[in-house]
Amino acid sequence: MKVAVFSTEPYDRQFLDAANANAGHPHELVYFDTRLEAHTAALAAGFPAACIFVNDDGGPETLKLLADNGTKLITLRCTGYNNVDLRAAQDCGLTVARVAVYSPYSVAEHVVGLIQALNRKLHRAYNRVRDDNFSLNGLLGFDLHGRTIGIVGTGKIGLILAQIMTGFGCKVLGYDVYPNAQFEAIGTARYVSLPELFAQSDIISLHCPLTHDTHHLISKQAIDQMKPGVMLINTSRGQLVDTKAAIEGIKSGQIGYLGIDVYEQEAELFFRDLSDTVIQDDTFQLLQSFPNVIITAHQAFFTREALGDIARTTIENLTAFEQHQPIANEVRLPD
Ligand code: NAD
Repeated sequence: MKVAVFSTEPYDRQFLDAANANAGHPHELVYFDTRLEAHTAALAAGFPAACIFVNDDGGPETLKLLADNGTKLITLRCTGYNNVDLRAAQDCGLTVARVAVYSPYSVAEHVVGLIQALNRKLHRAYNRVRDDNFSLNGLLGFDLHGRTIGIVGTGKIGLILAQIMTGFGCKVLGYDVYPNAQFEAIGTARYVSLPELFAQSDIISLHCPLTHDTHHLISKQAIDQMKPGVMLINTSRGQLVDTKAAIEGIKSGQIGYLGIDVYEQEAELFFRDLSDTVIQDDTFQLLQSFPNVIITAHQAFFTREALGDIARTTIENLTAFEQHQPIANEVRLPD
């Protein structure tokens, strides 16, 4: 089957080509480095399937253009599907699939990297030593042992993070609209209400999907309920956090540390080399200027294991669709 693969980087090609070669029934993968948007949808004309990533546009206009040009399947190379309008897809007769599960260790372990880099100020220490400045002033951290981490969303990634942080000797609090027994079976982990999690946690890490309900879950009101100097980590989706409220929180000291792998307006920035351009996003530039903020550009998933899983599942989704088999990873509108 011919597949228009959008937003491709060299590593996508490498892993997809390998998975495709190993599949009994290879597909014709045509790579586009451009993002899927209304004005690029024509690239997929005549392709039964389009394969997209986190910042591709799956809004009604783009989906209709794809469907009108003969596309029948949209398969996402990611877990979150907030960028695809499922109602519009259904109306256009498009099937939507995703990668429901891939190494959850990739994201959970990146969270630990952000926590410790912020806590022990590794980003600053690295630069100091390179500058022959061996002073420790300003680099004081804290022991994770005995601290409380609040995990919002205790699904696949939240669960692994709870296990890891238990290993550090942290107390683990969780909040989830669908609590699961596996979480409560971990060491000290226990579920609390969201306000309790905000009030009691030294570190808060977000692992719920972006939905209508979770948009700006971290608002000014939420930040005001947190412990002064809290560490906030977001590796889930940028729109979970009201960035302007977070900036105010950092300026007042209410937020002591911010680690983000996702950003509200990241579609205009991430996955591209903009080092020769002047960034026009003042909010992003302000965030970057704070010493207690670390931003990574949506790289939490970026391990060999995760890319291998993503590629294999993507090829399986394509094959199942072509062979009119049920797609295990199909995403449907809730009944
Ligand atoms: P998952 O579906 O296994 O877990 C999500 C959990 O969030 C579920 O337990 C669900 O019940 C819970 N949830 C839903 N709505 C909630 C709400 N309103 N409040 C609290 N909890 C709620 O998903 P996962 O694999 O653990 O991934 C979590 C998120 O991480 C994804 O939705 C995606 O946005 C993000 N992600 C980011 C990267 C990255 O590279 N930065 C990679 C993979 C996933």
